[in-house]
Order: sequence, then C-alpha cells, then structure tokens
Amino acid sequence: MKRILVLGATGSIGVQALDVIAGSPDLELVGLSARSSWETVVEQARAHGVTRIALTDPESAGRAAAAWPEGEVHSGTQGLVELVLESEPDLVLNAIVGSAGLGPTIVALGEGIDLALANKESLVVGGELVTALAEATGARILPVDSEHAALHQLIAAERSAGPGTIERLTITASGGPFRGMRRSELQRVSVEQALAHPTWSMGDKITIDSATLMNKGLELIEAHHLFAVPYARIDVLVHPQSIIHGMVTLCDGAVLAHLGCPDMRVPIAYALNHPERMELDVARLDLAAVGSLTFEPPDLETFPALAIAREAAIAGGTAPCVLNAANEVAVHAFLGGRIALPRIAEVIEATLNELGATPLREFESLFEADRRAREVAAQQLA
Ligand code: NAD
Ligand code: MG
Repeated sequence: MKRILVLGATGSIGVQALDVIAGSPDLELVGLSARSSWETVVEQARAHGVTRIALTDPESAGRAAAAWPEGEVHSGTQGLVELVLESEPDLVLNAIVGSAGLGPTIVALGEGIDLALANKESLVVGGELVTALAEATGARILPVDSEHAALHQLIAAERSAGPGTIERLTITASGGPFRGMRRSELQRVSVEQALAHPTWSMGDKITIDSATLMNKGLELIEAHHLFAVPYARIDVLVHPQSIIHGMVTLCDGAVLAHLGCPDMRVPIAYALNHPERMELDVARLDLAAVGSLTFEPPDLETFPALAIAREAAIAGGTAPCVLNAANEVAVHAFLGGRIALPRIAEVIEATLNELGATPLREFESLFEADRRAREVAAQQLA
C-alpha cells in the first residue's frame, strides 16, 4: 500500500483525488488538510478512515478538534508541517491553491518524500530552489497539471535517447471563456462569465487564471522547471477542445502528443500511482464523435498576461514570485467585484515594473518578495 497525504483536500483537485484513492486497493489515505472548511475535512476523514487532519486556520482547527475528539487535529501552518512529518506518507499530494503551497512543498521534498504537485505556484515562485531541493534529497516531483502530466509521459518515452532528442515542448490551452474577444470587450465581462470555463471545472482562482491566460503563463514556468527546457523552446498552443494536453517535438521532426477527454482524475491517478497505472472509470476518447480538433496561436493583444509571464520567467530571480503574488492579489480583487478583468494584467505589470527582478539564493528571500509584491499590488488597487 502506498501511503498518501492529501493537502487541500476540500478543493477541486483534493475531492477528485479522494475519489481516485477510494477506487484503488493500492493507495491508502493517511491525512487531510484544508484552510478553514473543517466540517468537510472531518466528514472526509470519517468517510475514509483517516485519523489525522490539519486546518491552517487556527479557529477552524479548534472547532474541528471539539467536534471530532477521536481524531488528531493539527492547527496553523505549523500544523501542516506536523501533518507531513507525523502521517509518514510515501507521497504528498499538494493541492493547495496559491503560494501558500510553497511551504508544504519544501517540507515534503526536504524530507525526501515524493510529491504529486498540483500546486503549480510552488514551481512558479521557487522553481530553481524547489527542483534543487528535490535533487538533493532524491524526492520525485510528479506533475498533476494535465499538460505537464502529459509531457512527463511523453518525455519518459524518450528517456533512453540521448540529450538533444527533445527539441520543443508544447502545452495546450483551451483559450478560456473569452477566446475570440477583443481587449475592449473584456472590460465588461462579469465574474460569473469568467467562472464559466468551457472545458474544465476547477477552483475559482485557476478558473480566472484560465480566463486571462495567466494560467498558461504559470504553466510555462512550471514546464521549464519540471523538464529543464529553456523558455525559447516551450510553446503555448490554443486548442479549444482540450483533447490534446501536451506535445513533444523530437530532433528528427517526429511529434508525440498525449490525448484524452478532459478529466483531472486521469493526471491525478497518474501522479499517485507512478510508475504503476490504475484502472479508471472515466470517459474514453472517441475521436470520431469529437469530429475535429482545432488550433490557433494565443492572442497576446487581448490576453497580455501570458506575454507578461513569459517576460518575468526569462528575467528570473524573484520576478516569477512577484508575478504570482501580484496575480493572486488582483484575481482576489476581480473575484470580489472590485476590478475589471483586464485590470489584473495591468496590476501585475505595474508591480513587476516597480519591484524588478533580484537574484535568488534562499527560500527566505522568496517569502519576502511575495510579501512585498502583495503590498505593492494592493497599492496599485487602492
Ligand atoms: P480549490 O480552490 O478548489 O481548493 C484549494 C484547496 O486548498 C482547498 O482545500 C483549500 O482549503 C486549500 N487552501 C486554500 N488556501 C489555503 C491556504 N492559504 N493554506 C492552506 N490551504 C489552503 O483549488 P483547486 O482548483 O483544487 O486547485 C488547487 C491547485 O491545483 C492550484 O494550484 C491549481 O492551480 C492546481 N490545478 C488545479 C486544477 C483543477 O482542475 N482544479 C488543474 C490543474 C492544476
Ligand atoms: Mg493545466
């Protein structure tokens, strides 16, 4: 039995992961965490026979402990660390949203524990340090993001070939709910419209990131760190049907593609079971029924966030961390109805312009850059 700890268990990825784990005789759930939705986590713990949970919001942790005396409830960000250490997992699934996921990523990898990573922000914020840490302890990072899970499989198929075999990586994008619109039209879109993603059902933050194309910007950075491929050789391709998730172009001109119906349980199961596979009851791809697959370049005029992300990625150092923090602040403001959608990219750009990129030596400077970027982004909003 592989012991799995799920962080961010109440979210879109977390809930689907519990479903995948329940369907496998080889996976055992050993712990759960959430920020504040303690009732759901306690319910999940009871349903799955889990005895340890953590709530990062201390008040929620207190309520959970009172309502669930037979269980062990850890509290606060320190509680999350205790949960990783005490539940003795073989693999941690990090499905926390935002840069709050960086801490648990560092703890798991630092302990040499394999990491199934949905929290792409960990790699955006601290990619170099995070991958160096994994290398130092021998822990593996298995991507849960669908495009990266696809690339992971395609690249693995070429592992025995020499360096230089892989020429380019392509990650696909649905284009989000506003594909085809002009920038001026985005001024008036509502939160509701932005939350109505055409092909994936996900948490609010990533759904807004998909509407601005910032999600592909974050994924570009994620791919760079996971596969050690320079930015100039990673492409983003808009593919509205979300059937092809990733492609690898090889040195002989061959192109390998990974296909499947859009269902996050597939990449979740891949990461949790790797290198094994499990049987999964998901829709099988019927290309005749799909009919046609279409492609177009991303519209960087309407969706400048992707271009801003690429620029910050190339600048490196603290720039991707600043990009991410400013994005989190701006997305929060959009979800709260305080700004129009195009303002998100403007706030990010202004924050990056003010803070620039400074070289990175330790995790501590990331937490500082994150904090500072949130301040500057908030000033931009005021
Ligand atoms: P979500 O908002 O549905 O769930 C987030 C989870 O994290 C919840 O359990 C919440 O309690 C917890 N959480 C939130 N803030 C926290 C904090 N400050 N500290 C500790 N825990 C906190 O998010 P999601 O859509 O499941 O996404 C999770 C991660 O997976 C994100 O990084 C996202 O980009 C990535 N991802 C999601 C999908 C998807 O289909 N949902 C696909 C690819 C990648
Ligand atoms: Mg993705």
